[in-house]
Amino acid sequence: MKKTDERDQQTEVPRNRLSQLSEATLRINESLDLDTVLQEILDSARSLTDARYGVIVTLDDKGQVEDFLASGLTDEETQQLFAMPKALKIFENLTTIPGPLRVSDFASYTRAQDLPEFRPPTQMSACLGVPIRHRGVGVGNIYLGKSEPGQEFTLEDEDTLVMFASQAALVIGNVRRYRDERRARVDLETLIDTSPVGVVVLDARTGVPVSFNRESRRIIGSLQTPGSPVEQLLDVITVRRADGREIALNEFPLEQVLSTGETVRAEEIVLQVPDGRSVTTVVNATPIRSQDGEVESVVITLQDMTPLEELERLRADLLGMVSHELRVPLTSIKGSAMTLLDDSSDLDPAELRQFLQIIVNQVDQMRKLIASLLDVARIETGTLPVSPEPAEVATLVDRARNTFLSGGGRHDLDFDFALDLPPVMADQQRIVQVLSNLLSNAAKHSLESSVIRVTAVQKDLHVEISITDEGTGISAERLPHLFRKFSRTDDEDEARQSGGSGLGLAICKGTVEAHGGRIWAESDGLGQGARFTFTIPVVEEAETGATTPSTRRATPSRQTASKEVRILVVDDDPQALKYARDALAKANFTPIVTADPEEVLILIEEKEPHLVLLDLVLPGTDGITLMENILGIADVPIIFVSAYGKDQIIAEAFEKGASDYIVKPFSPTELVARIRAALRRQTDPYQIESLEPYVLGDLTIDYAERCVTVAGQPVELTATEYELLCELSVNAGRVLTYDRLLRRVWGQTDSKKPF
Ligand code: ADP
Repeated sequence: MKKTDERDQQTEVPRNRLSQLSEATLRINESLDLDTVLQEILDSARSLTDARYGVIVTLDDKGQVEDFLASGLTDEETQQLFAMPKALKIFENLTTIPGPLRVSDFASYTRAQDLPEFRPPTQMSACLGVPIRHRGVGVGNIYLGKSEPGQEFTLEDEDTLVMFASQAALVIGNVRRYRDERRARVDLETLIDTSPVGVVVLDARTGVPVSFNRESRRIIGSLQTPGSPVEQLLDVITVRRADGREIALNEFPLEQVLSTGETVRAEEIVLQVPDGRSVTTVVNATPIRSQDGEVESVVITLQDMTPLEELERLRADLLGMVSHELRVPLTSIKGSAMTLLDDSSDLDPAELRQFLQIIVNQVDQMRKLIASLLDVARIETGTLPVSPEPAEVATLVDRARNTFLSGGGRHDLDFDFALDLPPVMADQQRIVQVLSNLLSNAAKHSLESSVIRVTAVQKDLHVEISITDEGTGISAERLPHLFRKFSRTDDEDEARQSGGSGLGLAICKGTVEAHGGRIWAESDGLGQGARFTFTIPVVEEAETGATTPSTRRATPSRQTASKEVRILVVDDDPQALKYARDALAKANFTPIVTADPEEVLILIEEKEPHLVLLDLVLPGTDGITLMENILGIADVPIIFVSAYGKDQIIAEAFEKGASDYIVKPFSPTELVARIRAALRRQTDPYQIESLEPYVLGDLTIDYAERCVTVAGQPVELTATEYELLCELSVNAGRVLTYDRLLRRVWGQTDSKKPF
């Protein structure tokens, strides 16, 4: 009631207020910068209403608070105000009030409204707030305050501020539109400027360029004579079409667009200057017309074809290289074959063998190159087939090491694997190929007397494997290009001598990426050695023990891990015994050690070890015979340890039933990793029931129910048939020897056929 009376008495804003208002409106129109405009609006609002201080809150399109600005406060007070979380909360709440707010005691008002208690940095008594609305949508609010108790805002203040706020809304709307347009323009300019295509805009009336983007400046700059203006180019440049025909500048497509306003699409043009420098470009030209249809400007795009030409050159290089690499072995195959044809009767068997060996070696070389080329082609088309399955890192590295050693690698290899490395998802053959490639590169680029280190650690959901050498190192400029095809040093001779095809690292990258990993190289520079690292995903929890037989094998050993795991170590070298005992004890295994082969069988009976580490060369017996005796009385995994790394011995050990083979010297980490892997592979027959069912196509083996079905139909099996199927299924993907099957299925200790 009181408010209506007041309004009746003072319905009009006095004339001097109006002139102040129009002056303020002019002032806030002076700038196009949003912050300056908001500050001006707030300062003017304060001076129109004689307020001690004020705050302006702006809202974004979604009605969320966008910005705050204060006036009449010192910098320190402003900082204090905006550092108060409650203050911002209050202003946010107030923006939801639809109409003006005019109160004489702001503190009592907030209490009455159940708003958080507000203690501004300076005294605040009366408060006047109005919403700023643009076309019915709230764009913000202005709040003004008086500091002295008893001072109040009048209705006239309120009316003035409402009028001013509607003017301010218009200005804010315009400035925001201007800001958005400017941002869009800057974005577009940045996009054009950083585009890999050259863009030039010409004024259609004068033909003078009005803007060049970075790429067009680069293309033109590559033809310009240093120190001469761009215009000078027009006097010296020759322009040719793709078919070699020279065209006069007035026939240049640009002239065509300027004179006829027609669009030119994808004209291949060669620009050349007298000293022979040239650029092949594909030119597009588009006229831009004014509203009345007149051509105002012309946008020309120039695409530099040099990178494509470079690609063509690489292709030609590839053809040259492939022809060369294939011709060399062919020549030698043909030479050997001719000799065999012509002179075979004169050759002794050793010579004959030598010629045949040359043919075999050269064919292998050719096959390797063809396989690499096929891999590169598949990587490029994204069709490289990889079939990841759970695998142990130690096993992968071991296979790569064997390839390295059998290929004549002589460097000392040092292995350092983190304990408890999880299994990884790897296409074994392909990841072994990556590892072998990196090992062979490390060897190729470092002295034989130096060490190559292989390390593996888990990083989140990946295992990171690094191969570090102490060799020639790689310069910083070359590092980013190493994984490209044919990435070699300029010294082609060196590359030819080292026998590299320049495809190895490109294939490594494609293979690792096809597994969902990453590969990179590091080097502190020439002479500082190099480190190549790649990542490979670990087997995910959901997969463990659920989907594939090899993960199922992991289950029993996890269970054994919590119990005491006894490892029997047999070695006649006391140093070696001590080394193994320490390493095993550190990894929480229980070592049982002996240097006496005669004691071994007794220890097996008495201590029932879970695994045996056996030296290959022992006094009075050899390791392989001892292994056969052990396997005669116990079903226990046996790992051979020896300084011999010969293929035949390794093959014999595996054939006779060894689980693994470690070549001395080895690191404690490698030893422990291999023991764990071997234990995992050893399925405890009493725990087979706890494994998940095995599914392969139509076949399902439910170990818990001892039930086998094919396409849902139960299959009748004898106990032995079932045990045999179990043994084969839990070892799917591995070679099982006849002896092992006899032991595991028939419990036999000799090799007599059971049927
Ligand atoms: P190549 O088969 O020719 O060796 P790669 O793709 O395997 O081709 O390697 C490409 C190039 O990377 C090599 O020619 C060599 O210059 C460089 N490189 C690779 N590994 C190493 C390393 N361990 N130390 C130094 N340089 C290396």
